[in-house]
Amino acid sequence: MILIDGKKAAAELRAELKEEVAELKSKHNKVPGLTVILIGDLTPSQIYVRNKEKSANEVGLKSEVIKYPNSVEEKTVLEKIQELNSDETVSGILVQLPLPKHIDKQKVIEAIDPSKDVDGFHPMNVGNLSSGYESSIPCTPLGCYLLIKKIEPNLSGKKAVVVGRSNLNGKPMTQLLLKENCTVTITHSKTKDLKAECLEADIIVAAVGIPELVRGDWVKKDAIVIDVGINKTDNGIVGDVHFDEVSKNAKALTPVPGGVGPMTIACLLKNTIDCFKRSQI
Ligand code: NAD
Repeated sequence: MILIDGKKAAAELRAELKEEVAELKSKHNKVPGLTVILIGDLTPSQIYVRNKEKSANEVGLKSEVIKYPNSVEEKTVLEKIQELNSDETVSGILVQLPLPKHIDKQKVIEAIDPSKDVDGFHPMNVGNLSSGYESSIPCTPLGCYLLIKKIEPNLSGKKAVVVGRSNLNGKPMTQLLLKENCTVTITHSKTKDLKAECLEADIIVAAVGIPELVRGDWVKKDAIVIDVGINKTDNGIVGDVHFDEVSKNAKALTPVPGGVGPMTIACLLKNTIDCFKRSQI
């Protein structure tokens, strides 16, 4: 079984991006800039944002974090986004989720200029992705896609099962696999027989949030299994896939941690650079 090393893949991607930033700097005399807006003092969000800033600096991006207290008014955040939209030194804008209850998440997402939407959550980018046009692609599914392509460059005709239909993971993952000519089944909490669906799959992407949901006897021999889940349990962090059982059947499997997670931030940097490149045309 191939243990898909997300840390290594992310380090390789960051090294490529670092070179690309250096080339862009010498060509345009400026570097892509990422601005993150962080609202409130949730510890996981603070950790994510710190990691994003560190990785952005490592590849040579200009990075900035704008912090607001939990009590900030929605209007203040929307005005800041407008300011960043028209700031030429800002290539990508990310508002760290979740937001406090009094701030409308969709309003905030839609306020970001789609050409700077490095999360790929703006309806314009969602629509472009599903229409097969160029767009920002949500970072986690993009990371999964790159990991799958490393194992199997030609996905045409493969059967893929995506478990979970969130806007963040399942839906964009489905679009990426469709684009590669996979036959894709998207499953969710109302799916009648999830095991039977998974048993058909050459590729399984699990993004559910239920610890070890996908069991060993759900997986066809030689399937590629990507585990997006991050679940805190009494036994530490586990994924949505039962690692020990599935590793006996699968051709390739991502561990948790150290699989999909590290690719997510590397893909955010990639999206920032891609936004910059599109803005220079
Ligand atoms: P979500 O809660 O928004 O969506 C979960 C999906 O799972 C829903 O579509 C639901 O229909 C489906 N589902 C629920 N119960 C099911 C069942 N019994 N059978 C089949 N489908 C079922 O979750 P999300 O935001 O997509 O996150 C999923 C997991 O991925 C979480 O553990 C989250 O922490 C993790 N995550 C990881 C990363 C990363 O970088 N690795 C990024 C984002 C999210």
